[in-house]
Amino acid sequence: MRSLQVVTPNMKCIYNCPFCISKTHIHDNAFKDNYSLNKKFWKDNLAKVIKENDDLKYVVITGTNEPMQSIECVKDIINIVRNESPDIQIEIQTHYYKDNDIYKNLDVVAYSIPFYNLTSNIKPSGKTNRYVFILTDTFNDYRLSDILKITPDNVSQITFKVLQKGNEASKEVNDYINSHSISIDSLNKLREDINSYNGNLSIRLDENCMDTTNRYKIFREDGYLYNDWEEESKSC
Ligand code: SF4
Repeated sequence: MRSLQVVTPNMKCIYNCPFCISKTHIHDNAFKDNYSLNKKFWKDNLAKVIKENDDLKYVVITGTNEPMQSIECVKDIINIVRNESPDIQIEIQTHYYKDNDIYKNLDVVAYSIPFYNLTSNIKPSGKTNRYVFILTDTFNDYRLSDILKITPDNVSQITFKVLQKGNEASKEVNDYINSHSISIDSLNKLREDINSYNGNLSIRLDENCMDTTNRYKIFREDGYLYNDWEEESKSC
């Protein structure tokens, strides 16, 4: 396993993104919060997973809500990973644009940006900063050159993510995605631009971000390891 996603405890998200894939899981994110209820078990299991997987290169701190809502948990994850394996790169995926000291302790801060005009709100402050543009229709008719103009110099990585629909029961999210995804024409032009880009930034287009097969495993707040985001709780 090269990459592990570590999930902060589930709570109502301070944002309410209409495309949020976390709202679409059949298990409704009902995992026992052993981070709060049995921290020793949670900590020991996370340390064990890190120790037993010596091919692990990346830990990604994420959540079924904004992970910065659990700053103490983010700090604990960083401490455990650094303690067990200091060479592992730690990243956070966040919508939280305000500067925070914790960002300086991470290797990568990946800022999710679902609307074209939001970048002026962000002060990228990690050692390495990534902009993750979520391709809503606000990106229609923009080319890569336009997006590079609104990307500050201290952002060295860009990911473009195509919106991912949930299961058939996720009507609200799927309806939003059906009517607010980037147009096919704009996506095709962006893909062309990315394929021919030869500048210094690392730029990728992620068209299937929920496919975890052979990509990563997930360590949930119950202290257990999961193979994918839909897997049912092992603790409830
Ligand atoms: S910040 Fe993330 S978890 Fe929260 S609503 Fe938006 S996409 Fe969902």
